Amino acid sequence: MRIKVIMSHKFSLDLNGYFSDMKLPELDQIQLEELDKGRMLPIMEEFYTIQGEGHHTGKPAYFIRIGGCDVGCHWCDVKESWDASIHPLKSVDKVVEHAAAQTAKTVVITGGEPMTFNLNYITQQLKKRGISVHIETSGAHNFSGTFDWVCLSPKKNSPPKSEYYEKADELKVIVYNRHDFEWAKEHALKVSDKCRLFLQPEWSKRDEMMPLIVDFVMENPEWNVSLQSHKYMNIP
Ligand code: SF4
Repeated sequence: MRIKVIMSHKFSLDLNGYFSDMKLPELDQIQLEELDKGRMLPIMEEFYTIQGEGHHTGKPAYFIRIGGCDVGCHWCDVKESWDASIHPLKSVDKVVEHAAAQTAKTVVITGGEPMTFNLNYITQQLKKRGISVHIETSGAHNFSGTFDWVCLSPKKNSPPKSEYYEKADELKVIVYNRHDFEWAKEHALKVSDKCRLFLQPEWSKRDEMMPLIVDFVMENPEWNVSLQSHKYMNIP
């Protein structure tokens, strides 16, 4: 039996709370169950590259970008990720095979907002292969999965759920305007002592914001500067 889940209004079928407001492609019952269990996911792209941002900058990693995000940051540089319905559901087992075939044994799961979906299965399978699993998330949706590194990047449109703060290994705040320094300080008070703190200029505002970030970090040395170094290296 085919179930049409894409609607002209917001999708409202709640499968374990993982996606309640997301447009998805037309799926049959089996695909819906596989998506619910996290054995199929809308994969936008997967590629082997160098991590360009944050604490692990400069390290090789296999990136898995999951489509779908309802956070809606106006400066987002991957808006093509937002609509999950245009990204085909892929077998997670196949994606894990691709990751395991790479030389470096680190995977970064990103998006979109990857926590829109159930990440328990993909992280279990990656870890069974001895792969270190990192996540880049806004924290806007329920947490799922097991990770070696959690990068929390809070967004004003949809602030993180409280469960993320103790899990975050890294807090990465994107600086688009002066108010983002206050937003950064507010979140730094909520994360654990182990969490590393990063400020990263939003790409289109980098010339304007970089001097302010430099001054802020020199005055607040618990913070670090993060650059989108992959863009300078001209790699994905
Ligand atoms: S949370 Fe990330 S993917 Fe979603 S709109 Fe914001 S920057 Fe873009």
